[in-house]
Amino acid sequence: MIARFIVKPEEARAGNHAGTCGVCAQYTERGVHKDDVLQKTTSNVTVTFPGLTDTMCEYCLAMWDNGKPNKFNRALLATEGKLYFPLIAANPEIQSEERPTWGEALRALKPEEPRVCVLNLDFKKRVWPRAKISQGDALSILIHDNSRTFSDNIQCSLSRLLHTLDRLEEIYTLGFSKSAMETSLMGIQKQVKLVGFNVTMVLERELQELRQTPEFLPAIIVCQKRETVL
Ligand SMILES: [Zn+2]
Repeated sequence: MIARFIVKPEEARAGNHAGTCGVCAQYTERGVHKDDVLQKTTSNVTVTFPGLTDTMCEYCLAMWDNGKPNKFNRALLATEGKLYFPLIAANPEIQSEERPTWGEALRALKPEEPRVCVLNLDFKKRVWPRAKISQGDALSILIHDNSRTFSDNIQCSLSRLLHTLDRLEEIYTLGFSKSAMETSLMGIQKQVKLVGFNVTMVLERELQELRQTPEFLPAIIVCQKRETVL
């Protein structure tokens, strides 16, 4: 489903192998035989191509086999007809309309539009076949983050995610580290003194609530310090 949502029909190279696609489970008459695509050395084959069928559809083929490095293995966010490869941190050298920050891309989402979010932090891994299309306030994000040994779809609320992101970015901008925000703000004495004990306590209590929510993980990964006006 994901590939048909992301790849435009003109980008899909048609073959003449008919069958049910082993990646997306959709029937096609224009697919290819998997042996024409998968080399014996292809890593991750068993994870993403379970081998239940010997067909790969033309849409999955377009995402699977897209040169090296394969741009579809990066983090991506797709809405109908638009495809972005968002960045975690702002980077003027590579930022563009196609590459906003995750914060910008998530804030620009329109709830009524269907979308696919793949927050993949290991671009060597082909994780997109596991992503899901979501719509409305219910947001599905596939997160693959080796540093947290996390690789799964989370279901969260778009509005709560944006609220969490706002709050984390405010706290991050005060000078606390991401790891302090993930565990406890009270651990770094210097920062507690700088911000003030009472303020830190209030923020820590707020974070204790936020850490329990599904919105916390994507928000902590993508949050950025705000530019402070001196
Ligand atoms: Zn397919």
